[in-house]
Amino acid sequence: MVHAWGVSVSSAQENAANIQHTLSAELILAAHELVANDQIKLEVEPEVTSVTFTLAPTLHVESIAMQTHSVSGGQGNQDEVVPFTSGYSSEATVQHVVVSLPKEHGRRVTLVMSYRGQINDPPREPRHLRFVTPSETAGYIGLDGVYLSGESQWYPDVIGSFSTYRVTAQIPQGWTVVASGSKESETTNSGKTSSTWIVQNQSEAFTLVANRFVTTSREWKSPTGQRVELQTHFLPDNAGLADEYLDATARYLDVYVRILGNYPFDKFAVVENFFASGLGLPSFTLLGSGSIRRHYVQPYALGHEIVHSWIGNSVFNRDNHGNWVEGMTTYLANYYWHEVVKDVSQAFEQRRMMLDGYNLYVRPETDYAVSQFLRKHDEKDNAIGYHKSAFVFHLLRQEIGDEPFWRGLKTFVSGYRNHPADWRSIEEVFSREGGQDLRWFFEQWVEQPGAPLVSLRDVRARHVKGEGGRETWRLTVQIDQAGKPFRMAIPVRIVMKESTDIKPIELNLSQASVTEFVLPDQPLRVELDPELMTFRRLTRRQLPPMLNGYVTDLQKTVVLAFSDPASPLQQIVSRIADHEQTGPHKTTVVSLKDNSLPHDGSILILAGADDRQAVQSVVQESCGDRIALGEKGFEIDGQAYDGPKMAVLFSCHRANVPGSVITVLYGVTSGAVEKISRFLFYYGWHSYVIFQDGAVTKRALWQDSTDVKEVRIDATP
Ligand SMILES: [Zn+2]
Repeated sequence: MVHAWGVSVSSAQENAANIQHTLSAELILAAHELVANDQIKLEVEPEVTSVTFTLAPTLHVESIAMQTHSVSGGQGNQDEVVPFTSGYSSEATVQHVVVSLPKEHGRRVTLVMSYRGQINDPPREPRHLRFVTPSETAGYIGLDGVYLSGESQWYPDVIGSFSTYRVTAQIPQGWTVVASGSKESETTNSGKTSSTWIVQNQSEAFTLVANRFVTTSREWKSPTGQRVELQTHFLPDNAGLADEYLDATARYLDVYVRILGNYPFDKFAVVENFFASGLGLPSFTLLGSGSIRRHYVQPYALGHEIVHSWIGNSVFNRDNHGNWVEGMTTYLANYYWHEVVKDVSQAFEQRRMMLDGYNLYVRPETDYAVSQFLRKHDEKDNAIGYHKSAFVFHLLRQEIGDEPFWRGLKTFVSGYRNHPADWRSIEEVFSREGGQDLRWFFEQWVEQPGAPLVSLRDVRARHVKGEGGRETWRLTVQIDQAGKPFRMAIPVRIVMKESTDIKPIELNLSQASVTEFVLPDQPLRVELDPELMTFRRLTRRQLPPMLNGYVTDLQKTVVLAFSDPASPLQQIVSRIADHEQTGPHKTTVVSLKDNSLPHDGSILILAGADDRQAVQSVVQESCGDRIALGEKGFEIDGQAYDGPKMAVLFSCHRANVPGSVITVLYGVTSGAVEKISRFLFYYGWHSYVIFQDGAVTKRALWQDSTDVKEVRIDATP
């Protein structure tokens, strides 16, 4: 019964609407099996002769019947068996079930599909050095847990459709189901627990998970009186962390209902997953055990998943039109939270990391436009689809002003509630709320790749007599744009003898812009965007030295400088080799004893105390006197850190090798680097990080990226 694919899929897509699922499913864990019956109500045009559903290829459809509603009423429904065919995509990743409809059918059709089979794609471990990626699985039913998402295709779906759901799931007693929507009822009978879940708003997918959870809940009330049930469903080992997660959830909801309007669901549940994940789903988030154990309550973690309740799960991303959801969520959660709590330095740090991430991970020759981003596969996608995209919202906010921006955001979220939106929708809403045509803005920042290459060219001033004999200074600032010029406002900080001022400079689409300021005081120097409020291309030399400079260099060498063969530093070498099995760029590994340093590329030195003098002398040229490695400790910038548990990770720009860095991980003893060896690549954003027994005690940058020019004073004519 192989079906040739063509017209029927798209015609079904266009014609089926208002789909309502009433699904009941029993989960048989040991057999990885699902036994289900789905009553599907949908609307079709009278001339449509077939409807196509997708279903997992491992599920076997046993029967499909059409329920005809008796016209006279009162005599009940009659079921009529209808013919269907099943076809499989070429890679057998999807089954298409084509149901033939009887010649005479009304606009409303009710089909009942009975099916069963295995959903058994055990999660594969993520293989990534730096960030936690969700393990790969299309769906799993088993004794370690149940995970059924839209991608699992565990119920019949019409491609591209939105549906409402009423789902009853049956599972062994002792297990708890958590699913999209609200729980209507739950009963336990002869060793089986059955719960019914309702999603009344049209949604893209229905997700269901289950495990042996310990459940806690509390009620949260918004300032407008909205009540939301907060829940945690944790495995017994993590059950003690429930309050920490409930408190954090309440804190985030307090802030984000003010920004985004009423919370879109009845509940928010933090649910522990049996594999590594960080997923924001309608009314719940699914986090891996490891994340939960590590207190995953930060703005970039739990905060981010909560913002997805509005952005992504209430306003949807329009499929294949570019993903704006991650950028907006990242802006509001990972970044803006710090502004809300008035943590100025963390807000600055987030802007820096968004900029540094883009500049390190996205080389100009492989850059692509934000509008081309669909989902994250690697760090480059992350830098464009999350970080540059988030920064676009920061630029938009500065372009139209705070008040119209936040009003526009609320209008957008309420206007597109339960509907898909794309970048055009955002442009339309913010153009209207901002009272200006933003076509140029979205074309420049969203639809085109790249970022402006801006530099201070000439800064000069002259002393003039102002009106009424008052003394003033005229300052002329020339800013150059190399490469394609951008239209933007960039702030400069003007440091004068007695005071300091920040002023915007409007750049237009030309290579050079000259702006004149009249100042009350003698200007000494000018700094270009020291607060990192604009999005720019910075050269690798302009960025602070850090481990990520090594990570993103196309040519890398690991230098072994330790004598203990059992040192945990050896693990780092194996991890790199393991990770690089599939990649194109291989790291060279050499020993400091046998080799002088390579002439090109970046270097990572893994150093033990025995080799500290040799290491000291090879970093001298690049790091100068900033660092002194000793037998019992080390000094950074003149400050001593002593003790057998101390370790340091530091990076310097390589002398005479522009754009490359030299990074050293040094432990006073092998034990001092034990924990760091496992998580080394999480510490990539700073020039130095100091550890005591594997825990960070200090981190800092050795350079900022600000372009600074002293003011040249011209003789007064
Ligand atoms: Zn996200």
